[in-house]
Amino acid sequence: MDSQTPVTMDEYARIILDHVAAGEALFDARDLRLLAANKLFYRFFEMHHVPSWDAETVIGHPLTEWLPAANPADAAALIVIFRSVAETGIPYQTEEYVAPVLNRGQMYWNWSLHPVRNEHGQIVQLIFHGSDVTAYVLARRQHARLHAAVEDERARFRAILDQLPEGILLVEATDGNISYANASAATILGIPVQDLVGVSFHQHARSHSSNDVHDRIALPWNFVVINALLGKTASSQETVVVKPDGNTLIMLSSSAPLHNEEGSVTGAVIVFQDITAQKMIERQKNAFLSLASHELRTPITAIMGFAEILQLIDAQEEGLNPISQRAIAQIVAQSDQLTRLIKEMLDLTRLENAELSLDYTLHDLHATLKEVIESQEITAGEHSIRLASKGLIATDKVMGYFDEQRVMQIMNNLISNAIKYSPNGSKIEVGLQCTPENPDEALIWVRDQGIGIPANEVHLIFQRFHRASNLNKSMSGLGLGLYLVKELVTRHEGRVWVESTEGEGSTFYVLLPLKKERHLKRKTYNHK
Ligand code: ADP
Repeated sequence: MDSQTPVTMDEYARIILDHVAAGEALFDARDLRLLAANKLFYRFFEMHHVPSWDAETVIGHPLTEWLPAANPADAAALIVIFRSVAETGIPYQTEEYVAPVLNRGQMYWNWSLHPVRNEHGQIVQLIFHGSDVTAYVLARRQHARLHAAVEDERARFRAILDQLPEGILLVEATDGNISYANASAATILGIPVQDLVGVSFHQHARSHSSNDVHDRIALPWNFVVINALLGKTASSQETVVVKPDGNTLIMLSSSAPLHNEEGSVTGAVIVFQDITAQKMIERQKNAFLSLASHELRTPITAIMGFAEILQLIDAQEEGLNPISQRAIAQIVAQSDQLTRLIKEMLDLTRLENAELSLDYTLHDLHATLKEVIESQEITAGEHSIRLASKGLIATDKVMGYFDEQRVMQIMNNLISNAIKYSPNGSKIEVGLQCTPENPDEALIWVRDQGIGIPANEVHLIFQRFHRASNLNKSMSGLGLGLYLVKELVTRHEGRVWVESTEGEGSTFYVLLPLKKERHLKRKTYNHK
């Protein structure tokens, strides 16, 4: 508008009205003539789409004349409303009225019609007031759709989680209440889902404080949850929980914290399974193995004893015939093999029952290796075993604290494997290296020119009972030797690994700490 032109009050009023964020109109109450309206009011009827009527021309004309063209569907009903307000003076108000929009879906309006009275109380005009709430209605619908989709998804997840054999709980950080439990959680804990959810986790995690009801140290169950609420992730922890009936369960529990967008812990998720039965079977198996290996040792010791007597007789003048000599040699060799297998079984059960302790004393590792090699040479057949000491002369001592019997066992296992898994006549090197830079540790290796280990199995061979796929049937064994080697080396706080090429040979390395006495005293004390 030109600032020079004089502006009337009416024009000011129009400017203001046209900028109000609502549709406003004034009607004559007697004949429903439109007296004044702002732009948004015309939007209400989409007047620009109405042929022959538009914003300018409807002014001064009764609603009854132009409304049927603007809103053919609702015209009659709207006229009734206008007339009723004009006659009764009762205001009319409606929400989310669907106003027609040509070819563009729908618009939603909240609108009202109020009577205006003169000084005599007569209704002279009607005021229309309406606001476009389309954006709000669409957003609300969208929100409802999303909400329904989320609920759908949640129901699906719950259905899936309810099928899992593992128990799952969600615990809220604010109050320690369980906010979700799946069906297996309820079954395992022996508490119905409805009694679990909404109740403090601590109430259900009544834990005993004693070491263990099942002879093994296991953590109280709430430990994993508290840890998770403190932001720590734990996987496969053995924990114990007391059921409402007083029975205890051994659980394998994993837990992790749940974070919000800002990174603070809002809760914890706990996944667990009941391993009580599994633990019982394991205990029985260990008890059986331990008993069986003890029982087997007695007869085998007797067989060996009698074989030795026969060997003594053979050594005397009369001697035994060659067939008997070969038979005795076989008895001795097979009994040795059997003794080794029984010993492996016994060591395994001791390890699993945490009964195996180390006896650290001061020894010369160089001498220990020489002794092992000497004893192995007897059974090495056509193999040649050579001691290669790097940076050492034959008389050098490599002193350190270690369990000599166990180090001998480690070396015996590695050397007898080298013999077993390499062809007759091939060379086996036992190495020892102790550098001045690292006087507190020694590197030992056993190198053979044998069948090697398939590359994809190298990482498996230290596992219990794993035997590689390139063995032939005559190579007997339980697959326990390397597992024991690894356990024994680890208990010495050392490291064992292998480098191998299938068809060419293998080198097993052992890095053994040569401990200092001061450090050891505590260790020995711990073990006893
Ligand atoms: P066992 O010799 O009784 O089978 P071990 O635990 O000592 O059990 O060894 C596990 C497996 O590792 C063996 O079965 C064999 O496949 C492989 N292995 C061990 N030592 C050697 C070696 N020196 N050369 C090739 N393979 C070996």
